[in-house]
Order: sequence, then structure tokens, then C-alpha cells
Amino acid sequence: LDPNPDRLSNSERELEKVLRPQAFEDFTGQQKILENLKVFVQAAKLRGEALDHVLLHGPPGLGKTTLSHIIANEMGVGIKITSGPVLDKPGDLAGLLTNLEEGDILFIDEIHRLSPLVEEYLYSAMEDFRIDIMLESGPNARSVQITLNPFTLVGATTRSGLLTAPLRARFGINARLEYYDAKLLTTIVLRSASILRTPITEEGAYEIARRSRGTPRIANALLRRTRDFAQIKGDGRIDTPIAQYALNALNVDEHGLDEMDNRILITIIDKFKGGPVGLKTIATAVGEDEGTIEEVYEPFLIQEGYLMRTSRGRECTEIAYRHLGRIHHTKGNT
Ligand code: ADP
Repeated sequence: LDPNPDRLSNSERELEKVLRPQAFEDFTGQQKILENLKVFVQAAKLRGEALDHVLLHGPPGLGKTTLSHIIANEMGVGIKITSGPVLDKPGDLAGLLTNLEEGDILFIDEIHRLSPLVEEYLYSAMEDFRIDIMLESGPNARSVQITLNPFTLVGATTRSGLLTAPLRARFGINARLEYYDAKLLTTIVLRSASILRTPITEEGAYEIARRSRGTPRIANALLRRTRDFAQIKGDGRIDTPIAQYALNALNVDEHGLDEMDNRILITIIDKFKGGPVGLKTIATAVGEDEGTIEEVYEPFLIQEGYLMRTSRGRECTEIAYRHLGRIHHTKGNT
């Protein structure tokens, strides 16, 4: 099981589509964000205007893509989807922008990875719904300004800290998605199980939910795997013992930490005396890419109190030592 969204298999992508809530009322959690969005959507519809540009940030798998589809559904407009690294040149962006109908949504995933040139090109599009495009090339080259249909840019990012100030300033609506608690994730697992027509007990759903790193994407993926175990090792029904059996077989521990979470903590404690140690060093030692550790693993380990980010690097906490059954020697004593 890999929480990095870049590495989803095709069948996992298909499953995500099937399980994706389509309307505000199917979306569980993030209550504050939802309440605000509902107001903004309703107001924009009343005025017959495009919704303000929206920036969604937070760790992967918390529902940024899902929310943008819901916004489009609720506004009754179309949505075009792209991502920062895919938009190579301003021309790529111009093609998308000129094809938007009035009020449409342009969803740019990983918006922190836009090239500076493309980003700058986006400014006037966002602000005045205008862009310059080059006609012909060589000596006949000239640029003309064209007016776009008013649209809504929805940007998603796992790293809002990497966004430039001018880009950030152009979003009227800014929302940070939080990890989900076990209760909310239980609701999500029960809903997904019902769509997949998998019988499940409330306790079985809770067992999966509380071990899903606070992330709906992981909860859905674990549900799918657990369903396999229920079919082969049981009678098809997911209850607590089957869920426990499956999660242990998948190397998800009692606290919901997966293999890589634990490998990161063990490495810091055993090889680097608990830290502080730099991100690059950790990445090399555990054989995982630096960005993935920073965007996917670290935020959860920090939120759950296993890890601290200090000016000198990452440090394991007492909680991490206890979790791994290691003895914590207070610094300064030998
Ligand atoms: P992100 O874009 O933040 O990486 P996605 O929107 O792609 O995350 O969500 C990943 C999966 O989790 C999708 O299958 C989606 O259906 C599910 N999901 C996310 N948030 C919720 C939610 N609040 N309620 C139900 N399912 C959700």
C-alpha cells in the first residue's frame, strides 16, 4: 500500500472514481470548509457569476480533487483538469484557458510545481480574464490580447509554503484540509462498503478507519484489500477479527503506521541517535524520495506526535521511542 498518489495503479484510480462523493451532502468532514464553500457557491450562483478562485491545500488523499468536482457539480459548470508539472509552456495553458466556457472550473493539481513562466502567464488570466497569445513566429510574430470567459481556477497543493506570494494573493478563497478523525473515517468506510456492496460491521469499519493515517484515500484502499481477505479467509463479511487479520497482513501496525512510517522512525532512532537529522540523510537511509517523505509521511508523524521538525533537522519524540519499544536516553546523560 503506497500513500503516494503518483503511484496509484489503474484499478485504484478506477476505484477512486467510483467512491468519489459527487455533492456537498455526500462529503464527510472538513465541516468548516464545506459550510463556507456552500455559501460562496450559493452567492456566486445568485449573482450569476463565476466563483472566486479557490486554493485547496493539505496532504494527499484528503479530498482536494473530490472537492473541486463537487464545486463544479454544485455550480452546474464544467471542469477541466491538469497539473503543474504537465503545463510546460504558456501555450499549453492558453489552449486550456481559451476552451473554458463561462463559469467553468480549471483544476490545477500540484500548482506549486508550475514553471515561473507559466505561473506569470496565469496572473492576468486570473485577474482580468485576459491573456496575450503569440500569432505566427519569426519576423511576422505579433502578440494579440484575447478576452477569456470568466472562469474559476481551483488550485490544489500539498506544499502551500512553496507557493509564491503573487500567486497566493490571487485566490479569493483559501482552505486548508485537515486529517480526518477515526469517527469521520468510519462514516466514509461504511459509505464506500455500501457502494462496493461489501457487508461490514460498524466495529470492522472503525478498525480500518482508525488505522488509515487520517486519510480517506488510505481508508478506501485498506477497505478494498480487507474485502479480499474477508472473501478468501472468511465468509465475505468484514468484522473486527478479519479487519485486524488483514491490516496485520498488510503491515499496518496497531497505531495505523505503515512500514515506511516505522522505517523512518527506526532509522532516526537507531542510526542517528534519535536526531536531529536532516531530511536528505533520512531519505537516503530509508530509500524513499525526499519530497514524498516531506509531503506524505512527515505531516502525519508530526501531527501524531512521533516526530518534531526543528531548525537542526528531524527529531524523534518520547512517543516514538515508546511506540518502537526503544529506550530514550535523555540528551546529556550517557
Ligand atoms: P486529494 O486530491 O486531496 O489527493 P482525492 O480528492 O483524490 O484527494 O481523494 C482521494 C479518495 O478519497 C477519493 O476516492 C475520494 O473519494 C476519497 N475521499 C476524499 N475525501 C473524502 C470525503 N470527505 N468523504 C468521502 N470520500 C472522500
